[in-house]
Amino acid sequence: LAAIPTIRKLYDSSELKSPPADKIRHNVEASLLDKISLYQGDITKLEVDAIVNAANKSLLGGGGVDGAIHQAAGPHLLEECRTLNGCNTGDAKITRGYGLPSRHVVHTVGPIYSPLEAEEKAQQLTSCYRTSLEIAVENNARHIAFPSISTGVYSYPIEDATRIALEEVRRFCDSEIGSKLERVIFVVWSNKDRSVYESLIPQYFPPV
Ligand code: ADP
Repeated sequence: LAAIPTIRKLYDSSELKSPPADKIRHNVEASLLDKISLYQGDITKLEVDAIVNAANKSLLGGGGVDGAIHQAAGPHLLEECRTLNGCNTGDAKITRGYGLPSRHVVHTVGPIYSPLEAEEKAQQLTSCYRTSLEIAVENNARHIAFPSISTGVYSYPIEDATRIALEEVRRFCDSEIGSKLERVIFVVWSNKDRSVYESLIPQYFPPV
């Protein structure tokens, strides 16, 4: 829990209700909204149980958030990734966090967007969120942070991608296994992405 106060919870600054972070673990009645945070900044700085990496199929590093994670974690992360034999689009694999403050990294491979195959891409992106959440919870993660998967170099439209992220996280939170999760942190980099999340979160996690 020591980690959570370091998270600037942008979402708290809105009109919407959310209890102080230090109350969350003890608040068994916590509403669904209390499970969600929005953070603008560098995901590699977060001291949580698991951060998600928007990786590529090789799992051997790349640009964007993937590059930042490998840079911050150090060469042992790449060593462990080499043992994983890559990862399919829509799937996820977990490693330790090494030099990162996060205990684990969940590496998921988002789809490269193409408007001609929008339905298939949506299913793959949904699968990234679902399998990442499943593998994190299987590894006892209670706090998990997601970047906006596929919306950088893989050019998924931000609003569609955000709806998929929020819908799938909501579905997971409502499931039996999802009750083991205490907090999902959506990490955005740009102001544009931040405003998309701020406007869509209430549709999927309505304030009580
Ligand atoms: P993809 O290849 O899946 O599109 P990218 O890394 O190119 O992945 O982009 C995914 C998102 O991560 C983008 O919104 C990008 O701005 C953001 N991003 C890049 N670096 C970081 C970082 N250090 N922390 C959080 N988000 C980041």
